[in-house]
Amino acid sequence: MSSKNISLVGAGLVGSLLSMYLAKRGHKVTIFERRSDMRKAGYVGGRSINLALSHRGFNGLRAIGLEEDIRKVGIPMYGRVIHQISGEIQYQAYGKEDEAIFSVSRGGLNKRLMELADMHPNINIQFDERCYDVDLDTATCHFENMLTHEKHEVKSDVVISADGAFSAARLAMQTKSDRFEYSQKYLDQGYKELTIPAGPNSEYLLEKNALHIWPRHNYMLIALPNLDGTFTCTLFFPFEGEVSFASLKTEAQVRNFLTTQFPDVVKLSPNVVQEYMANPNGALVTVKCFPWVYSDKLALLGDAAHAIVPFFGQGMNAGFEDCFEFGNLMEKHGDNWVELLNEFQHIRKANGDAIADMAVENFIEMRDKVADPKFLLRKKIEAKLNKLYPENYVSKYSLVSFSTKPYRYALEMGFRQDALFEKVLAIPSIETNWNSEETLPQLEALLKEYKFL
Ligand SMILES: Cc1cc2nc3c(=O)[nH]c(=O)nc-3n(C[C@H](O)[C@H](O)[C@H](O)COP(=O)(O)OP(=O)(O)OC[C@H]3O[C@@H](n4cnc5c(N)ncnc54)[C@H](O)[C@@H]3O)c2cc1C
Repeated sequence: MSSKNISLVGAGLVGSLLSMYLAKRGHKVTIFERRSDMRKAGYVGGRSINLALSHRGFNGLRAIGLEEDIRKVGIPMYGRVIHQISGEIQYQAYGKEDEAIFSVSRGGLNKRLMELADMHPNINIQFDERCYDVDLDTATCHFENMLTHEKHEVKSDVVISADGAFSAARLAMQTKSDRFEYSQKYLDQGYKELTIPAGPNSEYLLEKNALHIWPRHNYMLIALPNLDGTFTCTLFFPFEGEVSFASLKTEAQVRNFLTTQFPDVVKLSPNVVQEYMANPNGALVTVKCFPWVYSDKLALLGDAAHAIVPFFGQGMNAGFEDCFEFGNLMEKHGDNWVELLNEFQHIRKANGDAIADMAVENFIEMRDKVADPKFLLRKKIEAKLNKLYPENYVSKYSLVSFSTKPYRYALEMGFRQDALFEKVLAIPSIETNWNSEETLPQLEALLKEYKFL
């Protein structure tokens, strides 16, 4: 395999990981990152402080030997804890006993990936370099140095763009290539981060090994644990409307709202109102586009190709899976980059669209359905079916979070599972009889009807 000179734009989570996949196969990679080196300057957020890393993400990290390292610094979350407004608490396991998604620090993970990339002799990272344009036919990137504002260009064999949801290379594709399809859709809900502090001796004030949800129909609060005993909460909330970011203007209004809707959080977090006033509101966007590649010259990866909303906790996981697939295809196609890039986009595009749609749908599940008795009953029956038929019945959530089956497959299975459960939940007295011997033949008949058996 001949070595290529590759310009990789963006040293975020996906760019840093991908650089190692490329370098491992002998390519020379220069990463250009708009920000200063976060290992020196500190992590400047703008996005969530912690992230849920699951099976696909670990699979991407495994190939470069980082899986165990990150597992050690991640906090396993084995299920959801639902906090009702009454103070009542329910627990729902995510999967089987040992299945967990992991809360990891975004900054910590990104720094670790950068550190490893930096140690590789084939990788060079240049910071404070903002890409503002790309010539597609010549694989030439145009950069502005963020400190000196000097401009320069770099020609390489291939440009890989991992520069996030507002990608400069994608914009170049959109404006300079024919028939480029592009859509961006914002939710009318945004997000704001808040904190639940640690107790004495860094003690966790809520169950540590769980993702906490306060579902409130039109909005919700979630919390993920951090290593220092704190929880980072995210309030997903309408931008406009009667109860919204726009309507809560004063500290008194915010205090009244939080105390009424999330009284337990206010008790645990004395500064939550001040935090609400001080912290910015973030927007949530889904970006879909096609093509993702240009001849053998350019490829979009990660959020640059498929930015999704965070309700399935899959954006980074999907990006790490892009890297994994890219690695396999480099192996398969060797020097034929036209085929490599083409097959990459055809495999990944359908899956990117599928997880984008499932992520939007999961918002409704998290904010509305998790507290619904029918949903809870479905989860119990699904766990039972999975135990009885582990090969035949795997819930959509498990397919997404605990497997590497294509997202497209999980989406299709999800439709069939919804149709199945319309009938299952309509069985008379299912609420009381779901676990009985007498009900099993009915469940099995339905599993056969919907082709799970
Ligand atoms: C609130 C929230 C919660 C989330 N939670 C989860 C979760 O739990 N699990 C999960 O899997 N995903 C989650 N995500 C999604 C996840 O953050 C993204 O999918 C992931 O960060 C994508 O990585 P990336 O490297 O493609 O893009 P980014 O992380 O955006 O990195 C892009 C990099 O490119 C640099 N850059 C941008 N433009 C340029 C330019 N013009 N020139 C040079 N450099 C540039 C940026 O500075 C950055 O370093 C969440 C997202 C949000 C908003």
